Amino acid sequence: ETKITRATLHGGKRDDPTASYLRKSYKRPEHVDVFKVMCYDTTSWMKENFEPQVKKFNETHEHVVLKVEYTQDRLDINTASYAVGYDAVCLFVNDTASAEVIQTLSMGGVGLIAMRCAGFDRVDLIAAKTFGLSVTRVPAYSPYAVAEHAIALLMCVNRKIHAANTRVKMSNFTLDSGLLGIDVHGKNVGVLGTGKIGQILCRIVSGFGVNLLAYDVFDSDEVKSLGGKYVSKEEIFKTCDIIFLMMPLLPATQHTINYEMLPLLKKGVIIINTSRGGLIETTALLDGIKSGIISGAGIDVYENEGEYFFQDWSARNIGDPTLVALLGNNKVVMTAHQAFFTREAIEKIVSTTIENFGEYSEGLRGNELTNHV
Ligand code: NAD
Repeated sequence: ETKITRATLHGGKRDDPTASYLRKSYKRPEHVDVFKVMCYDTTSWMKENFEPQVKKFNETHEHVVLKVEYTQDRLDINTASYAVGYDAVCLFVNDTASAEVIQTLSMGGVGLIAMRCAGFDRVDLIAAKTFGLSVTRVPAYSPYAVAEHAIALLMCVNRKIHAANTRVKMSNFTLDSGLLGIDVHGKNVGVLGTGKIGQILCRIVSGFGVNLLAYDVFDSDEVKSLGGKYVSKEEIFKTCDIIFLMMPLLPATQHTINYEMLPLLKKGVIIINTSRGGLIETTALLDGIKSGIISGAGIDVYENEGEYFFQDWSARNIGDPTLVALLGNNKVVMTAHQAFFTREAIEKIVSTTIENFGEYSEGLRGNELTNHV
């Protein structure tokens, strides 16, 4: 048997005495698999976080060498061919894994779709199962990050921090016109969706001293222990001063906020959405703001964000009039899908995604979403 080091396997530097692979010599395993991943929609912050953990994975796994290639392009039918000859694709929130794309991936030999996010609404799970592809995700990276961002949006919309900051920076220290907010204390707060993020949100918002109302297909004991009361969606619409959308995007939740329910809403309601843009029919939201039914909205997601988010459009013309209307409305505070974006969450996203590659490459498939289709 030939004794070789990790350096030989990876073409690393042999003369670096601090390199961990030199501290131990490895016997070459009978079979070293190269597991190739095509990572779509790669941004520099994602690549910077992935690379050290891929290196660590390769230093600690004898039988598999993880090789990740990165592209800034999103997965769609035009880019699916990039993954020919790869074992896995690694996708983010705006990549599209439709049935047609999945068929192309399958023909190219791809066996795994590894989502590096929690939501999987852009993956056709039935097509994945049909074509024999596994789908994994990062079910919980930091629910705190998202819940805390939802609170930041609420406080910004309510206390007009965005407008006040701009005004003060222009040396206008008046409080006239447009800065008046409400106490959150004592208000009716409705949370639609009390899963991991919704529960943490409920815990945080309870600290304000609110009347907590919740809606979900399953009740949470945690929410009840906080004094939360499960009611119908309609009751939340009718009675709440603040509504948080915390549900996944599903056919049943699409356009939860729409033209039909606008007349049901309590006048002056603030709506916060950090989940998925498709939960809101955006033109209805804008009409609700225009008519004064909705006093403000804090949104981290937009139903047609795919073409724009995570890219710099500052020197280009945005061809989507609804997005332009959102950007131009000072009662809307908007961030571009950054609720998850904390140091802790990124570390967890990358480590879980790499664990998912490892488990799949070793034939451990218990976490696959396709098991549940
Ligand atoms: P989760 O699966 O823990 O919770 C979702 C909750 O929604 C569950 O309690 C479920 O029972 C409930 N639900 C499902 N269908 C429903 C329906 N028809 N009506 C009412 N409730 C329903 O998910 P989570 O970790 O809390 O995340 C929630 C969503 O947040 C994700 O699906 C994802 O889309 C979004 N998200 C956004 C970001 C971001 O950066 N903006 C980051 C992570 C997650």
